[in-house]
Amino acid sequence: MTFLGMPYAPRGVGHLRGAEPFPVAARSALADTQLRRNLGNATRTIRAKRAAVVAELPDWEELRAAGQAIKAHTLAHLDHYLTQLESQVSAHGGTVHWARDANEANRIVTGLVAETGAAEVVKVKSIATDEIGLNEALAAAGISAYETDLAELIVQLGHDRPSHILVPAIHRNRAEIREIFLREMPGVDPGLADTPAALTEAARLHLRRRFLSARVGVSGANFAIAETGTLCVVESEGNGRMCLTLPDTLITVMGIEKVIPSWRDLEVFLQLLPRSSTGERMNPYTSMWTGVTPGDGPQRFHLVLLDNGRTAALADPVGRQALYCIRCSACLNVCPVYERTGGHAYGSVYPGPIGAVLSPQLTGVEDNASLPYASSLCGACYDACPVRIDIPSLLVHLRARHVEEAARSRRVPGAEAVTMAAASWVMARPGRYAAAQRAGRAGRVLGRGGRIRGLPPPLSAWTAARDAPAPPAQTFREWWRREHGQRDT
Ligand code: SF4
Repeated sequence: MTFLGMPYAPRGVGHLRGAEPFPVAARSALADTQLRRNLGNATRTIRAKRAAVVAELPDWEELRAAGQAIKAHTLAHLDHYLTQLESQVSAHGGTVHWARDANEANRIVTGLVAETGAAEVVKVKSIATDEIGLNEALAAAGISAYETDLAELIVQLGHDRPSHILVPAIHRNRAEIREIFLREMPGVDPGLADTPAALTEAARLHLRRRFLSARVGVSGANFAIAETGTLCVVESEGNGRMCLTLPDTLITVMGIEKVIPSWRDLEVFLQLLPRSSTGERMNPYTSMWTGVTPGDGPQRFHLVLLDNGRTAALADPVGRQALYCIRCSACLNVCPVYERTGGHAYGSVYPGPIGAVLSPQLTGVEDNASLPYASSLCGACYDACPVRIDIPSLLVHLRARHVEEAARSRRVPGAEAVTMAAASWVMARPGRYAAAQRAGRAGRVLGRGGRIRGLPPPLSAWTAARDAPAPPAQTFREWWRREHGQRDT
């Protein structure tokens, strides 16, 4: 437990290797009409459910403020709460491991599974394990990892990648899921219908064998309560409860930002999270455990506390807000960019607005440089976030960091820097600004119906995806002089 505050340059696998930058990946996603239809239907439904249950609470804004305050306090005293968590888990028979980065976490988990002699593990849905690429690491060690959440199972059987935090297979419709099951699920009924009931029944039968034979379960955690060392997983399907209780050994991989001080704090988050994620007043299954209990549930419990770039994010007074995230996915469901491109375009296990601010910080801004630009800055994510993360301000902050880092690494200033320097020179004197406005009027010849559809390079990048307004016949200053008969200032 000595890595907090140490100089540290982690490189995890939060950014998917070989992934294209967002603008390139988004272009092909936008051309996929089936994907856009699936996403549009799914996000519209979740948005409506969320809005209805949030409207039931008169103190929703106070709850959001409380959630934000608890997260800010916890992160300001993270070393204290993590140490308290470690001693409580240890006192109740669990073992705590500290992982600086993805490689270390994978080594720890793989070693723990190997010690049990098991060749397979069952998994509860966990983005932390996706972030570190645990399934691949286990496979390299000859251990099969079986996802048991229905959407994760669809993704795994489809040799696909998750595209949403809460609904990883949101990009698939029922017909596509049926095809995947028929192709990949051994022993499935060839007459399988594509109704939700038939598909879930097929998954249930497929998974039951795994649950009953698994000796090791692997999970993430939604919260960890420092005062008692209690871990908490919320879910909807009951698969989590099976993985957390049936195997002899349970290994939980948890980002260090998931710790909260007390049970009173959990009360706030258990009101915020289900309403923001699935649009429910309470999630169907809330599993909590404290260490091990002789004769009841797993007899060996290991908690792997994962840094993987989180202390680097914590060191940024603005950027650390991204660590407040409780992974509800409300920001994805309201984001106009996510709704059109889907999650794969982000090239990161954390898609959508939270991915655009978290992934660049976990991997280093340059490794996910295009993500902070994947936003219209409309602010819908901020309004929806249950812990009031100011995502638009974070995006702007990360854009500035990217520009500064890029400028430092260049010998010759880039086109953007030259343009900004020229704009700064022009705007520094009213006379220069007025002359530039008059000169810009020449652009009217390019306009049709008040719009310019194509500008010459380098401005053509702007009009490649949108029209520009044609310059007006007179500038504001000229209008002012004409109307008021006096000089502008
Ligand atoms: S940033 Fe906020 S809205 Fe988005 S997933 Fe995290 S907690 Fe939810």
